Amino acid sequence: MKEIHELCDLLPGTFMADSWRSILELYDEARLASDRFQESFNVHCPEGCGTCCEHFVPELTEAEASLIAAYILLIKEDERLLERLLKHDGEAPCPLYDANSPYHCTVYPARGLICRLFGACPSEDKNGLAVFRKCKYNEAQDTPNLISAQDFAHAAAPVSTMREFGVRLSSMTGPHDPQPLAAAVLAAISQLRFIANYLASGSHDDDNGGAGPEIPTPTPIAS
Ligand code: SF4
Ligand code: SF4
Repeated sequence: MKEIHELCDLLPGTFMADSWRSILELYDEARLASDRFQESFNVHCPEGCGTCCEHFVPELTEAEASLIAAYILLIKEDERLLERLLKHDGEAPCPLYDANSPYHCTVYPARGLICRLFGACPSEDKNGLAVFRKCKYNEAQDTPNLISAQDFAHAAAPVSTMREFGVRLSSMTGPHDPQPLAAAVLAAISQLRFIANYLASGSHDDDNGGAGPEIPTPTPIAS
């Protein structure tokens, strides 16, 4: 199976590949910041816990949804995920949750920003200062219930908050508001199919001298 970063090489020169590259860079930064925070403040989720995915359906920006769509179409090639999205009634659990999957998330490498940071990154209080409250489902005894703005003020290094990453995420997406996961990913799948069909048809040859990029046909969900 391809690695998530390899997606960017499948549609070279397109805004989609640029968007995937940018969002993966943001996710890498978010992971490093979250790892640093968790290590410094002894914060961790109990192993195997995926309760948030059972009680929550995230909203996604276009850029986040596009990466998940590409992961489903071009890496997982799993039609069952498309069926789950089509059948989803909007209620929790998240349609991409799978209790039997090792990470509980069927699109784990492509999951959205909130799914990466929830329970593992400080938020902000009403004064814009970092504060962390332990997730109510977190039963890890050694994880502090609260890390206050005062605690953070005495920390060795400043921490990044969910809001900071959220602002950066919203700067790299289209004009539309975030949408519930199923609607956002289904729209992104349609857009990706359209572009894949367009490139495969060769109708873009006049634009680039006939050197159209070769892309894999998204066979499992191809129209
Ligand atoms: S996308 Fe994945 S991590 Fe996010 S809520 Fe759904 S199953 Fe959980
Ligand atoms: S954020 Fe809470 S519910 Fe989600 S994995 Fe961590 S402890 Fe479990």
